[in-house]
Amino acid sequence: MSQCCSDCFLDEYLRKVIQADGMPGECDFCDAKDTQVMDVKKLAAYFDPVISLYTAQVEYMWLEQLKECEGRFIWEILTEDWGIFDEWERGKEIIEAMYDRSSPSDDRPLFLDNYVGREDEYCGKEDEFSAKLERDWIGFCDEISHRHRFFPQTTFDLDLLSEILSFSKCTMPAHKTLFRARLCGEKKFPPELMGPPPLDKAVDGRANPGGIAYLYLASDANTAISEVRPQLENRVTVGKFHIQREARIVNLQDPRVGSPFKWGDSLEFVLKVQDFLRRLGLALSEPVGRTESVLNYLHYLPTQYLCEFIRHEGYDGVSYRSRLGKGYNTVLFDPVTARCKSTKLYRVKSLDIKADEVK
Ligand SMILES: [Zn+2]
Repeated sequence: MSQCCSDCFLDEYLRKVIQADGMPGECDFCDAKDTQVMDVKKLAAYFDPVISLYTAQVEYMWLEQLKECEGRFIWEILTEDWGIFDEWERGKEIIEAMYDRSSPSDDRPLFLDNYVGREDEYCGKEDEFSAKLERDWIGFCDEISHRHRFFPQTTFDLDLLSEILSFSKCTMPAHKTLFRARLCGEKKFPPELMGPPPLDKAVDGRANPGGIAYLYLASDANTAISEVRPQLENRVTVGKFHIQREARIVNLQDPRVGSPFKWGDSLEFVLKVQDFLRRLGLALSEPVGRTESVLNYLHYLPTQYLCEFIRHEGYDGVSYRSRLGKGYNTVLFDPVTARCKSTKLYRVKSLDIKADEVK
């Protein structure tokens, strides 16, 4: 039985697991003493989902291809692609101890002695699930934009959408500071005038349908100012808001898998839906057009639907990257979730213009 300590891993999630659930002892791999250690066979339960993404190449490649093909061992992939180990040599020792035969009658797993890879990627098989997800969403957006808005005939699997969004949930702590900007004249607005517009002035936004007011906030003052798209020398009031209570947020700023260990058996599913989550985040980030054309309004429908669904699922808001500033935006569905504490007056000194030639 081999014991392993948290310092043998770079992955923060796994390090915390060992520190929290391990026993005092000595590490058999790095010789650390008086530390928290865990039996490597027990750690295998954490590794199973990530290792099962890969298959020994001998199982899906022709012999001739195998001879020519360069490959990587599982511990190299876990080190290079997943950042689990500092160096693959240590990874090899640990993985071998973890998966070598428990008893002489067991077969030694093929991946311990062979290069491994993603069979689906090698075979060029289209990921049917992701492709269908994409198709269904596009079809649904088209349905509510151009065919049936309130009683759509083409539906989207909302249970699935709920599950996918749950992989991006996070909590925003009470008292967290966020910012909101308003163009103004010589004088700054007081805090009580920094909330969302009154209902009769709440025009369609990327997240809110016209007539329904959400509170759009930004992570920093400059991002908030960028979001109101000022001209040079414009004066802008920036309000500092505090979140009034812990808020449940769907975070679409930068959907990524991160540590494979936090997902358990859902890892493969999470990998498949990352692109879709990124797509939703990008749709929210897309700057709103200045004109009030019907086309603009139709552009907002899918993200407005998405946001109302997120609200319906019990979340307080949604976060996404700002395309106009360097930070991120958070939309709170119930404006009282944050309160403006103070305001400052700014003058815009420069606008960072980047342009592409239109060909
Ligand atoms: Zn160690």
